[in-house]
Amino acid sequence: MHEEKSAGLFRASAEYIPGGVNSPVRAYRSVNRIPRFIDKARGSKIYDVDGNEYIDYVCSWGPAIMGHAHESVLKAVHDAVENGLSFGAPTEKELKLARLVNGIMPHIESLRLVNSGTEAVMSAIRLARGYTGKNRIIKFRGCYHGHSDAMLVKAGSGGITTGVPDSIGVPAAVVADTMIAEYNDIGSVERLFEAAGNEIAAVIVEPVAANMGVVPPAPGFLQALRDITSRNGTLLIFDEVITGFRIALGGASERYGVIPDLVTLGKIIGGGMPIGAYGGRREIMEMVSPSGKVYQAGTLAGNPVATAAGIATLSWLRDNRDIYEELEENGAKIEEALKKRFGDSASVNRTGSLLSVFFTSGKVTDYDGATSSDTERFSRFFSYMLDNGVYLAPSQYEAWFISAAHSGEDIDKTCRLIEDYQEN
Ligand code: PMP
Repeated sequence: MHEEKSAGLFRASAEYIPGGVNSPVRAYRSVNRIPRFIDKARGSKIYDVDGNEYIDYVCSWGPAIMGHAHESVLKAVHDAVENGLSFGAPTEKELKLARLVNGIMPHIESLRLVNSGTEAVMSAIRLARGYTGKNRIIKFRGCYHGHSDAMLVKAGSGGITTGVPDSIGVPAAVVADTMIAEYNDIGSVERLFEAAGNEIAAVIVEPVAANMGVVPPAPGFLQALRDITSRNGTLLIFDEVITGFRIALGGASERYGVIPDLVTLGKIIGGGMPIGAYGGRREIMEMVSPSGKVYQAGTLAGNPVATAAGIATLSWLRDNRDIYEELEENGAKIEEALKKRFGDSASVNRTGSLLSVFFTSGKVTDYDGATSSDTERFSRFFSYMLDNGVYLAPSQYEAWFISAAHSGEDIDKTCRLIEDYQEN
């Protein structure tokens, strides 16, 4: 497999861009390979500048749930572009997108659009603090909520992959109010509430943790979070940047029947364009400027091209709900192949079309389990898949994403490759 062009671009990029990339995990450092510089992507496939074709299980880290460059999304974007790129004024598309989200997730009564998942979380945290008049926040070790200062504490995703879960440059005072609990351990949450219950503005959680690899919630965990936050006048925030419109059309609330106060969204809601959103109960959202005194704004927020892609994506998903069953089946096939191949020497976690294989024995239910993985074994497996035309996330601590464009043939080829893998 050729990689000369990617290697050349990577070397040149490193002179002008830190580490040669605009987001750390893309650099392939933890897997010791040359990152693929991408030329284009269509459906389930992604193509690099050396002309290699891969079955893509990164799917732009989630947004490409319909597959890449879906005709209806491209058409919506082309049509939007014809009318101008940005107005800095309200448009009907923003209303359409907010209504669509409300139709799918009725607990999001009111919604504010921003430009990324990071911004969505940062703003939701500010809102929770403004609404409750409290300052402290509980987050879970290994969950990732973007790179705003208050959230860069024991962060997952690139934080674990690159070994910097706590970034320098974040003043201790800024994170003094961020308390850390253990995912799937309600006792660890109860202890924090015992210590500081009346000071806690919000508990923020990835309802399915997907940034330390995939770790599904233990039965009752999300409901227990709902109960303890309600009892203490604390807001519950579901960070559904990954899970929204993925683990079910209605995300975690549909799948687990637990309704948070606020939700953060990203990725799929923009269909591949830069977007994020936060929303929830109207009474809380009414605190956001200009209705209320929690300030938050954005020059490009509600961008007409991004909202066009988002509307096309969400309306397609709403009208093609069958795909969730198909995604579930395809996820189960890959899960089975991994279990068959690795047996007790690895642990496979899956929620719908999100999955991970952890190279550790024993079930992975928390951060300690996830990080007990043998990342060298992961790297060798990753390299084998890459060299055979399957593009996985280049880190033990990221999820595989399956899209509606993955064909039976794609899935079978992937499963065959997994089963043929010779581990040495
Ligand atoms: N929350 C979660 C759960 C995420 O997975 C991510 C990004 N992977 C973010 C927030 C941040 O989103 P963005 O990268 O768009 O800023």
